Amino acid sequence: MYNIDLSGKTGLVMGVANARSLAWAIAQPLALSGARLAYSYQGERILPGLQELTAGQDATLIECDVTKDDDLDALFATLAEDYGKIDFVVHALAFAPRVTFERPFIEVSREDWRTAMDVSAYSLVAVSQRAAGIMPDGGSILTLSYLAGERVVPNYNMMGVAKAALEASVRYLAYNLGPSGIRVNALSAGPVRTVAARSISGFGDMFTEAGRSSMMKRNIEASEVGGMALALLCEQLGSGVTGATLYVDAGFHSIGMFVPDGYEL
Ligand code: NAD
Repeated sequence: MYNIDLSGKTGLVMGVANARSLAWAIAQPLALSGARLAYSYQGERILPGLQELTAGQDATLIECDVTKDDDLDALFATLAEDYGKIDFVVHALAFAPRVTFERPFIEVSREDWRTAMDVSAYSLVAVSQRAAGIMPDGGSILTLSYLAGERVVPNYNMMGVAKAALEASVRYLAYNLGPSGIRVNALSAGPVRTVAARSISGFGDMFTEAGRSSMMKRNIEASEVGGMALALLCEQLGSGVTGATLYVDAGFHSIGMFVPDGYEL
């Protein structure tokens, strides 16, 4: 038997908004494996729910809007003070203004481009800069992406461009931090019904199509993202993987031709 033991390990989980958040699906196996977790959340509206979710854990909850350098500095100063060092970071957050999902990509404004890129891509760089300073023994940083960063998915628009920047950032960060023993990876997840997903026009169709057309003929469960995240975050399993975008999408990304139900290739 291969026991995953994260006791003595400490990590930061960013992006839990509620029990449906992918960040929460990732936090659970980490906590069950014995890791001590700190959670950062966007604003005070989220705090009561997060307190309820994490009630059984010895967790530190810290507010951090990733567009604010002061918040990021304060977050990592608190982590340094409370824990001395950390072993991993889960970056599971993104945002683009609603209009960017509703209007054709060609109409995106400079301001909306900037906002989506800032929250959804630059924040990983800003977090990695600071996290590396408190990972003296190496570590693992994980972010979440989606196939629309590589291919056109209708309505995803600006967020697709931000995911492309995010995945490229993963590679450059992994290159910079590799010599320090810090790994940086992305999981590209298939559609899961979360608050962020619901803000995407036509998400229901994306969800149905992914379930119908994936190799496994089903959608993924959030817990499957959690399982793969655990592997990448823990040195026992993930120590050789960095600069990668791995898919948790029941094989959807590898399909080259979508065929009607019942059609045999
Ligand atoms: P979610 O709504 O549960 O989580 C999004 C999180 O982003 C929230 O906690 C929100 O507070 C946070 N956030 C937004 N702006 C922020 C800011 N300025 N500062 C700090 N935090 C901020 O939705 P989710 O689907 O769990 O999203 C998590 C990640 O997973 C995102 O990167 C998303 O693009 C990615 N993802 C989601 C799916 C899906 O289908 N749900 C698929 C692939 C990738």
